[in-house]
Amino acid sequence: MHPTKAYAAKAAKVPLGPFEINRRDAGPNDVAIDIHYCGVCHSDIHQARDEWGGSIFPMVPGHEIAGKVVSVGPKVTKFKAGETVGVGCLVNSCRGCPDCKEGLQQYCPTPVWTYNGLERDGKTPTYGGYSTRIVVDEDFVLKIPTNLSLDAAAPLLCAGITTYSPLRHWQAGKGKKVAVLGLGGLGHMAVKIASAMGADVTVLSHSLKKKEDARRLGANEFFATSDEKTFQKLGRHFDLILNTVSVELNWNQYLGLLNRDGSLVLLGVPEKSPTVGAFSLIGGRRHLTGSLIGGLPETQEMLDFCGKHNIVSDIERIPIQKINEAYERVIKGDVRYRFVIDIASLK
Ligand code: NAP
Ligand code: ZN
Ligand code: ZN
Repeated sequence: MHPTKAYAAKAAKVPLGPFEINRRDAGPNDVAIDIHYCGVCHSDIHQARDEWGGSIFPMVPGHEIAGKVVSVGPKVTKFKAGETVGVGCLVNSCRGCPDCKEGLQQYCPTPVWTYNGLERDGKTPTYGGYSTRIVVDEDFVLKIPTNLSLDAAAPLLCAGITTYSPLRHWQAGKGKKVAVLGLGGLGHMAVKIASAMGADVTVLSHSLKKKEDARRLGANEFFATSDEKTFQKLGRHFDLILNTVSVELNWNQYLGLLNRDGSLVLLGVPEKSPTVGAFSLIGGRRHLTGSLIGGLPETQEMLDFCGKHNIVSDIERIPIQKINEAYERVIKGDVRYRFVIDIASLK
């Protein structure tokens, strides 16, 4: 056992504070990682505040983990001490189901989440990246390309893969009209990745405030959804819309922006879901669908793609002591575009 400094939410809706956890000693297949940086995902806030129900407390959030390998177990073949590595939302899965066998571990019926989950024994809680160290089976550790800054690469482990996976699945690329709904942590990664794939990218944001940023990030067009005219102008326009918004929206309005056979992909997870009118789907044979992070092989593919195209997140680095303030600012939309915790502040 390795006593490890962390920050935890001790209950729903109370501020996070210092906490000590015990990390296991590295087993034969384990990689022990010294955490340097951890991104702050909106899902950390939803779960720390128990907005989805069933949260396990005390909770050490954090699933955009970047650091260096300290040591490896005797059976580890893929990693060695000193390498820069990442850990995302998953630290294990059943490994035997069809999803796991296809490398789509995120759809395993019994995944082990990096935090707010239980280990395979069904009783040991998992703790995330708001901590100085983590020990993870090598099959759930990823290599971060060395040309990327480690702090700005951390958000790729969730925001990056969550947007890369549906862009690949629905074949974003040349000739495809893709809209990114919500320009936050996920949204700004979606814009960078979709434009690197060659798609024609439009940002749909609730106000005009982020217009210049959207263009700088690679979008061709920008529209404010607060303007009713946007919905008239863009009727039947897009092949694919990624909805990254963290609050409830009128999905019917956005389905109307899809061309025939287009897809509205839900990525944001609001507390409540709206109802969908049958005609929104029937007229135009449209799809309303969703996508959850990405499996391990695709996450490595995304990291390599980002390495090749030099894509990282736009970040604001914070010490862990500022985490509660950062949560409030994320909720207000006051972050350009991801907070990343400098874990040195915890050591
Ligand atoms: P974020 O940085 O807070 O971005 C969310 C964006 O939604 C904001 O930047 C804003 O964009 C828009 N928004 C927020 N409040 C709004 C409001 N009241 N009205 C209209 N628009 C609003 O969050 P994130 O980290 O990108 O996460 C986004 C959502 O995805 C969260 O619900 C999170 O839990 C979920 N998520 C899902 C997965 C998955 O696997 N599916 C993975 C990670 C996260 P504009 O200012 O441009 O309108
Ligand atoms: Zn996340
Ligand atoms: Zn499985």
